[in-house]
Amino acid sequence: MRWLEISVQVPTELADPIAEVLSRYVPHGIAFDYGPPPAVETDWERPPPPPPVLTVRAYLPMTEGWEAARHRIEEGFWHLRQILPFPPPEFRVIDETAWEEAWKAHYDVLRVGSFVIKPSWREAALRPGELLIELDPGMAFGTGTHPTTRLCLQALAEWLEPGSRILDLGTGSGILAIAAARKGAAVVWALDIDPVAVRVAQENVRRNGVADRVHVREGSLEAARALGEPFDGILANILAPVIVRLCAEGLGDRVRPGGWVVASGFFAGEQEEAVGQAMAAAGLRVRARWEEDGWVALGARKE
Ligand code: SAH
Repeated sequence: MRWLEISVQVPTELADPIAEVLSRYVPHGIAFDYGPPPAVETDWERPPPPPPVLTVRAYLPMTEGWEAARHRIEEGFWHLRQILPFPPPEFRVIDETAWEEAWKAHYDVLRVGSFVIKPSWREAALRPGELLIELDPGMAFGTGTHPTTRLCLQALAEWLEPGSRILDLGTGSGILAIAAARKGAAVVWALDIDPVAVRVAQENVRRNGVADRVHVREGSLEAARALGEPFDGILANILAPVIVRLCAEGLGDRVRPGGWVVASGFFAGEQEEAVGQAMAAAGLRVRARWEEDGWVALGARKE
């Protein structure tokens, strides 16, 4: 089996729409390369300036119909180029083994605060106090390479109290749920509406030996309602319109008074404002804000 590697350098603002075009045709996820990650601990006080461009890579299986898929991807890019110009994509044909290597090469050991995120094929020596999360990138979002995941990890490190009961809404790969368990949460419920994410998260939870505390289920807010009393903390790294809707549908009722909600997945500016307003209307008072590369996480307390 052969694969067509598509790599394209795009302005950071276009990362999402580009990924959206690619995700219609590529089955194995999309790699965002923001350049070399910070080598040592991230300095949250003085974050590095946001990179203006990033490289997006995806691998299209060269099975029946791949030429048409390539054509449609190029069309999609053409439309996006009318919004903001960027160079045409580069294509490279690679075989199965090279594909695995190319794909794996994008994932190195990543340190976010005290969390060490490691793909299974890499070695990592833990320093005292560091918490290991072993994750293989599957088709689900959440390998620690996206700024919003890192913002949520930082928020969690600051706000999570040992023994608490946590809800991870939109768990993707399960990374935040596993991190919460490592940080001392007593129980974590990890929900996602995407059955593929549920399967990948379940595998990752098992791989990390936290299946006794982390329960993965398919579903969203309605499933969370069936889980009994309100939570001590909720993580929701989804998208602005989804978070706004979840707030209107009663996300605030799922957290106990004095408990917290950390929401991410949106940009500074209009999106952040909309999420902040929706949270306030849901009885959630915004108390903290984390930002990286223009992406934001908001931390709120239930009144
Ligand atoms: N928590 C991970 C993954 C975030 S990606 C991280 O921080 O890296 C967002 C996830 O939310 C996706 O897996 C998507 O399937 C899921 N999702 C989207 N809408 C949702 C909804 N309404 N309820 C629950 N999950 C949702």
